[in-house]
Amino acid sequence: MAISRDQIVMELKAIKSTQMHQAATEQTKSANALSQLVSQLQTTIDLEQLISIFSKELTKLIPHKGMLYTHDEQSIQIATGLRANHSCEYSLTIEGALLGSIKFMSRQRFSESELLLIERSIACLLYPLRNSLQYLQALRSAHTDPLTGVLNRSTLQSVFQKEAALTKRNHSELSLVMLDIDFFKVINDTHGHVAGDIVLQAISKCIQDTVRESDHIFRLGGEEFAILLNNTTSDSAYLLAERLRLATEKLRIKYEDSSISFTASLGLATYCDGEKIDALMHRADSALYEAKNTGRNRVVQTKG
Ligand code: GH3
Ligand code: MG
Ligand code: MG
Repeated sequence: MAISRDQIVMELKAIKSTQMHQAATEQTKSANALSQLVSQLQTTIDLEQLISIFSKELTKLIPHKGMLYTHDEQSIQIATGLRANHSCEYSLTIEGALLGSIKFMSRQRFSESELLLIERSIACLLYPLRNSLQYLQALRSAHTDPLTGVLNRSTLQSVFQKEAALTKRNHSELSLVMLDIDFFKVINDTHGHVAGDIVLQAISKCIQDTVRESDHIFRLGGEEFAILLNNTTSDSAYLLAERLRLATEKLRIKYEDSSISFTASLGLATYCDGEKIDALMHRADSALYEAKNTGRNRVVQTKG
């Protein structure tokens, strides 16, 4: 049976109308998912949660395997899902301020329409992300000693509580090392306060380079530091304290025409189950006091 031209035109119109309907439905679905994304991103200020929500909501819009958010200047790296062969990466900025970069990974190459949706989703992320980064920075500076960049004294209590709980759960050991520069006043008096500050920065860096990434370094005040070593027996803590003592002895600080060298005394104590931070500090401090009184430039260890 011959098909008339009118019939063909009508069928083409029907196909076009179905296609338009499908496109409109897709658009409505994306618009709904985007508005859901916007409202979900308002629910947290915590950076890790924000990135996790973003990734979860984005999965509803675009199938992808994983996502990686990085901010090198702030040493932040948050990964969700899995790695995959194909990826697209965006650098994130608001008014010239860099907010890090985000990478999406997929088994298949992203289509043009998917890339467009990713870009529209990123636009929804930018302002909540800036707020989360500002919040994180405020939190970090509240916990950090401005001169040396290590943690401050007021943070010791909360970090200790977390580490003590982990120590109990894992049946491991937790040690505390206290370090105090010997005759620091002489450095200030001889070379000036600025040189003293440089020495404090140098010893902080030396401690950071010597301990593990998972250890916590605090400046307790002046030229006194505490290092909380998780998963560390008293014998291992002693070896580390010795390494720190030797590394300090080897430091040479160039300042104006001088080369400043100095030593440090260290005291250490290992956590007893249920012990309070004040008691642990008191024991480490007594050991440090003994190190000072028995000649300085030495490590003294207390037994539990
Ligand atoms: P010891 O061997 O017994 O520990 O003697 P010390 O001279 O190291 O200790 P002392 O407590 O007598 O002196 C500490 C000095 O540290 C005195 C203080 O002015 C100085 N100080 C405290 N905070 C800072 C700081 O932030 N920068 C500088 N440059 N000096 C500081
Ligand atoms: Mg001192
Ligand atoms: Mg001191």
